[in-house]
Parts: sequence; structure tokens; C-alpha cells
Amino acid sequence: MRFVVTAGPTREFIDPVRFLSNPSTGRMGFAVARAARTAGHDVTLIAGPVSLKTPPGVTRIDVVSARDMLRVVRTVIARADVLVMTAAVADWRPARRASRKLKKTEMSDTLHLVRNPDILKTINRLVRTGTTGILPVALIRIGFAAETGAPAAEAVRKCREKGLDLVVGNDVSEPGSGFGTRTNRVTFVTPDGTVQHLPLMSKLAVARRIVSFAEGVIQ
Ligand code: C5P
Repeated sequence: MRFVVTAGPTREFIDPVRFLSNPSTGRMGFAVARAARTAGHDVTLIAGPVSLKTPPGVTRIDVVSARDMLRVVRTVIARADVLVMTAAVADWRPARRASRKLKKTEMSDTLHLVRNPDILKTINRLVRTGTTGILPVALIRIGFAAETGAPAAEAVRKCREKGLDLVVGNDVSEPGSGFGTRTNRVTFVTPDGTVQHLPLMSKLAVARRIVSFAEGVIQ
């Protein structure tokens, strides 16, 4: 099978030296890429700015902003069977990006933001309408729901809203879960409303479960 995995944060620049972002390190996405490759799949990893080594045998494409990520995802999923959106995509970007460093005296106290495109919703729309003609209709789509607090209810909502086959929910405020940790306690939610709570395990073990889920859908 051909996997496309996104990982890490995106950066939304205000000027060449300032940006909006989040604490994602890319560990979960890189673990999914590694697990899929180890299981014998073809893997393209689309990474935001992170400082992790590319897993052996994985094709990596680096991006910076949410819009870059959307452009690359749209291009590479034409040949994919599975899209795993692990990336913590920034929801907003500054309305304007200055081409040179802004002096403090030039900056207002208010930053005007505009919403970034939602990559999963965009892909869902394209798959449903068959707009591009290049998208594989059977593309398995897996998303994440990083919440502060119990993730199941939000994960169920996101699963339906974004047209996903699986949402992996986690509570990023819980010790041992979320950004930067080596472990994760996750909840799997499927479109029929089934909620499966998994115990605390390494991100690689979570990644293997995600890969197995995708393999199970295809068979
Ligand atoms: O709505 P929320 O951002 O919590 O949803 C998280 C899921 O949606 C993740 O899988 C993330 O990669 C994806 N996402 C996206 N495009 C965005 C924001 C999030 O595809 N602009």
C-alpha cells in the first residue's frame, strides 16, 4: 500500500523573523512513517519544520506553512491508498506577511489573522465531488484530535465533520501524552461511533496500531 503521512507543526510567518506555530515535534508522524515502511509499505512523509531524522526508506518532502502542506498533499495523494494527517496544522495565519523584518515601532498591538484551509476537509470535498479526477476515491483518511481533556466526544465530531475512517484522539494535557513525549495514550474513533481506549504505549506502538487499522480496511 502507499501511505502519505504528514507530521510536525506548520509555521505561519508574520515577517522573516517572526511566526505563529505550536509545540509539535513530529514524533508521532515520523513513528507512523517508520511503522508503515517497516511493514513493507511505500511511504511519503510530508514534514513541517522538525529536527528528526528521516526513517530509512521513506521519501520526505519538507514544507513550512499550512498552505504549502495542502499543495503537497494534493499532489502526492493522487497515487496514495492511505492519508494519515498527524501534522499539527496552524489554524490561522497572519493576514499579511512582511517581506522584511518589521520594526517594533511599525507593529500594531493587534495581529490580523485569516483562517488556514483545513487540509482534511479540502480532501474530503475533493473525494466526494470527484472534482480533480485524480483523487483515489477509496483513499483511507486518518486524522488526529489533540484535545485538553477527554478526547472521545470531539473525536467523534471530527470523524464525521472531516469524513474520516479513523480519528486518533489524545489528551495533550495528560502526562506521557501529546506534544514532544515518546509515549501516547490514545482513543480510536471510527465513523460508526465505536470508541476504543488504548493504554499508554510508545508512539511507535500507537503507529503500528494505526498501520494495522489501515491494512484491515483495505483487506
Ligand atoms: O480540527 P482539528 O485541527 O483539531 O483537527 C485535527 C486534524 O485535522 C488533524 O488530523 C490535523 O492534521 C487535521 N487538520 C487539517 N487541516 C488543518 C487543521 C488540522 O487537515 N488546517
